[in-house]
Amino acid sequence: MRAHASVLHLDLDAFFAAVEQRDKPSLRGKPVVVGGVGGRGVVATASYEARKYGVRSAMSTREARSRCPHAAFLTGRFHAYRDASTIVMGLLRAASPLVEPLSLDEAFVDLEAAGLPDLEVPTVTAFAQELRERVRDQTEGLTASVGIGTSKFIAKVASDLDKPDGLVVVAPGTEQELLRPMHVSVIPGVGPVTVERLRRAGIHTVADLEAVSLEELVRLVGNAHGSGLFALARAEDDRTVEPERETKSVSSEGTYDTDLTDRALMEQLLTRQAREVAARLSKQGLSGRTVTIKVRLHDFTTLNRSTTLPSPTDSGATIARLARGLLADLDTSGGVRLLGVGVSGLADWIQEDLFGETEQEEEPEAPEPEIVRSRDRPGWAPGMDVVHDEMGRGWVWGAGRGVVTVRFETAQTPAGPVRSYADDDPHLHHWRPEQAEAGAPPEE
Ligand SMILES: [Mg+2]
Repeated sequence: MRAHASVLHLDLDAFFAAVEQRDKPSLRGKPVVVGGVGGRGVVATASYEARKYGVRSAMSTREARSRCPHAAFLTGRFHAYRDASTIVMGLLRAASPLVEPLSLDEAFVDLEAAGLPDLEVPTVTAFAQELRERVRDQTEGLTASVGIGTSKFIAKVASDLDKPDGLVVVAPGTEQELLRPMHVSVIPGVGPVTVERLRRAGIHTVADLEAVSLEELVRLVGNAHGSGLFALARAEDDRTVEPERETKSVSSEGTYDTDLTDRALMEQLLTRQAREVAARLSKQGLSGRTVTIKVRLHDFTTLNRSTTLPSPTDSGATIARLARGLLADLDTSGGVRLLGVGVSGLADWIQEDLFGETEQEEEPEAPEPEIVRSRDRPGWAPGMDVVHDEMGRGWVWGAGRGVVTVRFETAQTPAGPVRSYADDDPHLHHWRPEQAEAGAPPEE
């Protein structure tokens, strides 16, 4: 725990749903549910209007439909979420070099590195207020809730206290007072199993927990968990803000029966692996900044070489180009037995497995056939961006039985008209923003 409230936690409010409401004017102020729209789908985010009906993240879409049948149920548009997230993370990184993204819409910022005149409560409060305004301006209307405290734990608790569009600074010395009446589940790592064990022992609040000795706690929840819980119950948390989370990575590698000596072949293999990595990244909604190659030589020496980009990528062409560049610097004339490409420094853009269907599709190596299929017969899912040759841009309101219904509006227009088309109407197309990768070499 620090002497000053210098850890900031920012969390965009109902992020996916808020982006949808921003881009779809007819949905503003209405219940919106983003997630898997099919039979096995799960809610990723519900707008505050839908939460009033009891719709929650991670609930099955079926349950959500029964609680709030009049909500708009939309499939995710990750390009839009990623673009908004990039803007917000950029603002945070401009404010402090120490930013730790937790997901697309959430990050810790270390204010000790922000160059503020001091770290007193009025100063950090004014800083956060200005940051929230900048987020709203730059994202064209998204709101963020911010918490500031003497540790990550307190900052995260604080950001949740006045949602949405809130700002709470917990003054140093008041942490325990704040935590004591709260339910034990407020503590990071206390999930349903621990909650149940504690409940059986009559421990409900943080104050109850604080009264339990370390020995007793270890007996209740085990050795590994007990001491951490003992400290957190006293608001003791020294975790640092980690600007990169290198532990997470996506990689692909191959070992070869005969030693490879042909440089062109090695480059081809790296390129193929880079594309596999890129396909997995984009399927999972991930992107990363650090590209690494792994090369095992004929004598079993293993070399790792990496390079870090200024901003995250999931482009196969970019990853391949960097990987080939790294290989060029190595002496592989004696032969190579293993080659691999990995991308790390990931932000876990999609939180856990909230999208039921995405998870299902993730099974082994399906990207190629799927891309082909979607080109042949475009699918229309509710929420998708489309453009019609005459009507212009809009989004899929609903689709099925050979008909697709589109509402023609964008973030910059008023609520727009609705029209229906045959689902193979040649005038109706999927719409994607221009890719910023114009300089990258084309994929084969
Ligand atoms: Mg959020």
